[in-house]
Amino acid sequence: MPDREAGVDSGVSAHLCWVMANTPENGTGVVSMIEKLIGFPTVSRDSNLELVDFVRERLRAHDADVRLTFDDERRKANLFATLGPRGPGGLVLSGHTDVVPVDAQRWNTDPFQLVGRDGRLYGRGTSDMKSFIGAALALLPDYVARLNRPLYLAFTYDEEVGCIGVGRLIEDLARAGVKPSGCVVGEPTMMTPVIAHKGKKSYRCSVRGLSAHSAYAPTAVNAVEAAAEAVAYLKKMARRLRDSGPYDRGFDIAHTTVHTGTIRGGTALNIVPHECSFDFEVRHLPGDDPLALVDEFRSHIAKNIEPEMRAIHEPAGFEIVQMSEIPALDTRAETAIVDLVHELTATHEVGRVSYGTEASQFQRAGIPAVVCGPGSIQQAHKPNEYIELAQVEACERFLRKFLERLCS
Ligand SMILES: [Zn+2]
Repeated sequence: MPDREAGVDSGVSAHLCWVMANTPENGTGVVSMIEKLIGFPTVSRDSNLELVDFVRERLRAHDADVRLTFDDERRKANLFATLGPRGPGGLVLSGHTDVVPVDAQRWNTDPFQLVGRDGRLYGRGTSDMKSFIGAALALLPDYVARLNRPLYLAFTYDEEVGCIGVGRLIEDLARAGVKPSGCVVGEPTMMTPVIAHKGKKSYRCSVRGLSAHSAYAPTAVNAVEAAAEAVAYLKKMARRLRDSGPYDRGFDIAHTTVHTGTIRGGTALNIVPHECSFDFEVRHLPGDDPLALVDEFRSHIAKNIEPEMRAIHEPAGFEIVQMSEIPALDTRAETAIVDLVHELTATHEVGRVSYGTEASQFQRAGIPAVVCGPGSIQQAHKPNEYIELAQVEACERFLRKFLERLCS
């Protein structure tokens, strides 16, 4: 079996016909590139350097300038490549190389081996978001020699753990004086242009109490109970935002949300716990100020929870530390990159989504960004993640037009 068919079984017919018809003779077809990328198990906690080396090697043939920016341990890297003529303007195709873990998920196939079945491609990262990256890499050779403007590829690490890697890539671009005029982030939107998403701030809240035998509970400071009171206040804020807004009906969840995701504390029932910690997040509408909510939370704690704790044990109290931040995205609908994506997708939709992406960090750096990529967020992060071949096909059509535009 030729390399490009590996892992794709034969029951797919119509779509596979498309796949085969669109697979260039040189074996750099879209599906085989997706297969190659899925084969790198780039879970966020692990290294992505093998994938980065593979991409860099491929780009070497196309006279690309490749810049790498690393994490502190140099186990992961962002790759930023410049292709075609160097100079002002030019457009970015961007995606993250990392994927979420498969631990404790029940998969019917090996998540790191692409399997084609019933018009779908299965594997971790097929929707989120190696199909977009794979399509861009596979199609590049057809256009690179004819580019009239710079094409940039921005492939990042640690997106799934809070859009961490892209910050270093953007800082590096500023240092290098690279100023693209627009960016398409290929997160799964079913190829619908998305110009706004919520922002997110996440926090760890650590509670310090005072331990004692539980028979003497009133002489101690129960950290679990103090944490529970604080979590209950977050829930109260969440209800208020749900019931009173502000609202933006363009979002599926039309208001800012507050959510507590984990809590840890206590060792045994007969010991008053002296430690507890919980993680919470605020996902806010572009116009909402998340810091105002966090300030409200802090002052509630200072006014209503800590005094009772400190009356018993002075060092008791709360510490709240921000863990990550994704700005909200709110690209103006009349921006050139939005016009272009509208034209190439033949829609005038301006989607708004509740999840965060790296697009907002490009936008904050002065690079207008649109989110538009194949597959559905509904399939992301789940066992048996897949992408419809029809979506891969739509992505290929879009990227061919996009690349052709850079050639004109
Ligand atoms: Zn993603």
